[in-house]
Amino acid sequence: MTEKIQTISPLVDQFSRTISYLRLSLTDRCNLRCLYCMPEETENGNRPVKGGKSLCHQDLLSYEELLRVVRLAVSLGMNKLRLTGGEPLVRRGVLDFIHELYRLPGLDEVRLTTNGVLLAEYADRLYREGVRHLNISLDTLQAEKFITITGRDHYHQVRAGIDAALALGFQLKLNVVAMRGINDDEITAFGRLALEFPLQVRFIEFMPVGETSSWREQRFIAAEEIRERIARLGQLSPYQRRHSEGPARMFELRTADGQKGVVGFISPISHHFCDQCNRLRLTSEGRLRACLLSDAESDLKALLRGGGSDREIVAAIKQAILDKPQGHALQQRGAEAAHGPLCVGQMSRIGG
Ligand code: SAM
Ligand code: SF4
Repeated sequence: MTEKIQTISPLVDQFSRTISYLRLSLTDRCNLRCLYCMPEETENGNRPVKGGKSLCHQDLLSYEELLRVVRLAVSLGMNKLRLTGGEPLVRRGVLDFIHELYRLPGLDEVRLTTNGVLLAEYADRLYREGVRHLNISLDTLQAEKFITITGRDHYHQVRAGIDAALALGFQLKLNVVAMRGINDDEITAFGRLALEFPLQVRFIEFMPVGETSSWREQRFIAAEEIRERIARLGQLSPYQRRHSEGPARMFELRTADGQKGVVGFISPISHHFCDQCNRLRLTSEGRLRACLLSDAESDLKALLRGGGSDREIVAAIKQAILDKPQGHALQQRGAEAAHGPLCVGQMSRIGG
């Protein structure tokens, strides 16, 4: 157990981590139904029937409320912002919201995580507003399998979105959730994509998040196994990156014939990175959540709508940072915790 230290900066938590990165889940709605995140609500083959209803519009924080929270978080020194969801691009007015975010003094950059379905349509305006970094989630390079994983026939739209973003010069990271028996046969194909295109491919361990996820132990593949498979394509050497770039362990992949690419591995389950975590999340319900995999949250929306002053909102953000758990349940309870959901919160509301 790490000894608790006296907090010096409002952004330093009890375990000496600097929490400088805010993630906003703009909506829990989505135009896909990924089997690990938001399976169909209706009976559909093997899909669970559970799923819960989407939030009503008034349950979401308004853009004005979000701008206020971001402004106050930035005033505390938080300088990295990511918009996620659900699918952030399905929320009406998101581009105007991004425009307003860029007018906030002190906020350098807005990044976005998207499934890419609407990207071909939005890429140009996103670039013009100042966005330069996109994370795009894509778990298969096969159109038929895309339907199996996401419940929707939008593979070619996502590929067109990636092409449009590459043409505009965005820095792209492709996120791939690795699932045994579903897309593990495509691990090297994704590695080749990183060699072929100027984008980084990051493999994410399948996490047991939320009651609706179709997570099963047999589906889980540890990052180490994925890395071994990628290593069949060429030599992997550690890739220099900034600490602020997150928890992925990045490698340069170099083939015998001189091709190069960058791949990464995000291993929250097999090799947790809680000691380096710099994130605070605001869920689509307006709750501050300091750990993706722990359900402790505080209700910022109640404060915002109950006439809370800027000082009180700042105090709530600071408190959430102070209360950030040292690690997630898997770290605290041991490996057997991975046999069921680590938390009940839905990924689409938390924001991944
Ligand atoms: N809709 C956007 C997208 O898919 O990129 C943003 C939200 S999504 C919840 C954010 C990320 O969480 C995606 O990369 C997705 O693959 C990942 N994710 C969702 N459920 C997951 C799970 N159970 N295990 C691992 N990653 C998951
Ligand atoms: Fe939608 Fe992203 Fe969840 Fe897939 S992972 S259902 S794209 S929010």
